[in-house]
Amino acid sequence: MPLNIATLSLITAVQTAVLAVMLWAGTQGDPGRPLTSLRIRAVALALEAVGWGALAVNAYLTPAQLLLGANAINLLAQGLAVIALRMLLGEALRWRLVLAVGVVGWLGVAWFGLIDPDYRDRVLWGSLAILVNLVLSIEALLAGGRKRFSRARTALLLICALAMLLLIWRNGQLWLGQHQPDQISVPSATNFFYVMFSGLQPLFASIGFLLLYSEILQQELHLQARVDPLTGVGNRLAIDETITRLLAQAARQRQTLGVLMLDADHFKHVNDRFGHAGGDKVLRALVASIRSGLRESDLIGRVGGEEFVVLLPHTDMTAALALGERIRLMVESTPLLIDGQLLQLTVSVGVALAATAERDGEAVLQRADTALYAAKRAGRNRVMATDGDGAALPA
Ligand code: GH3
Ligand code: MG
Ligand code: MG
Repeated sequence: MPLNIATLSLITAVQTAVLAVMLWAGTQGDPGRPLTSLRIRAVALALEAVGWGALAVNAYLTPAQLLLGANAINLLAQGLAVIALRMLLGEALRWRLVLAVGVVGWLGVAWFGLIDPDYRDRVLWGSLAILVNLVLSIEALLAGGRKRFSRARTALLLICALAMLLLIWRNGQLWLGQHQPDQISVPSATNFFYVMFSGLQPLFASIGFLLLYSEILQQELHLQARVDPLTGVGNRLAIDETITRLLAQAARQRQTLGVLMLDADHFKHVNDRFGHAGGDKVLRALVASIRSGLRESDLIGRVGGEEFVVLLPHTDMTAALALGERIRLMVESTPLLIDGQLLQLTVSVGVALAATAERDGEAVLQRADTALYAAKRAGRNRVMATDGDGAALPA
């Protein structure tokens, strides 16, 4: 096979430039952490394309120009790629370390290239810089442990492993090979192989990065769709999903699940007095107040304007009533300071219990709602429960 490093590098340069443009073109939309990381990744790719372009036209450059220029660009591109990945994963950027790796890497390459020329030392030095960057990427990909493991992370880990193998193989060839090492632009089987596989890396890395990007966006959307933006607790969807999960768990463990439905009393008056924005502050304060009375395993969600559900795993009716009463008392005895004025808020609470084998979350919530309605009718600021048929019982 005729070997032509320049042609191979040119193909990689064009391919990498196209990938950079495509990634950049994909960055339309709401600015945010993932989008910024995608932009940084696109810039890194564009720099990589320039580095490959320099290798393609090496015949027109002096060795010093190629050495200092291409290595500076490549190290910068790598550093940016590491930062983009860490940003996308939500990890600490470690940009000082990344910068130091780039600077030290470049100085070493310049030293072993111009001042004390030794090709093998130069490649080894550059490889060490790449290795540190790879370790920084792998560390970010593994952070969070098994819980955050995913296909995109696995794909990127494999790509990092491949890059490491390539480095080890190239250095092994240079240090253990029989003949004198060749400069990268010299056509040899080793160089051809190295350039070909290094040239595929931007493509692999871009696909891996895009997979991870879409995965993280999906996770964020999944989360956003389940969080109430005003109070930060789960919304109706989160409660519906959680109650289904907890009922299945309760059935497995032969336990009962307590459900509280809470509604602020006379909230319209609160809005009349403090305005809608003031009412919003009251809702946030109310959530904090309810939360302070809950246990670690209890879950709270906002299912209506000023209506909340609390799910109590491993809880029987007596304990659920006691918890409802504790929350009611806590809200009643904790005046809220809103816009410099004190507000004495109260809540009504409906309590229902899911029997051990009950699977219909909707029916349990309905019973809690019936009990809440009964508490309202009985004069508010009280806790009431339903029996299994839905008839309200005073607590
Ligand atoms: P009751 O004791 O019977 O529950 O009386 P209430 O005034 O609380 O009556 P109701 O539950 O029917 O009214 C809820 C009020 O809560 C009406 C609505 O303006 C207000 N509200 C609903 N969502 C929000 C919100 O997101 N922010 C604010 N500030 N107010 C809200
Ligand atoms: Mg109300
Ligand atoms: Mg209401």
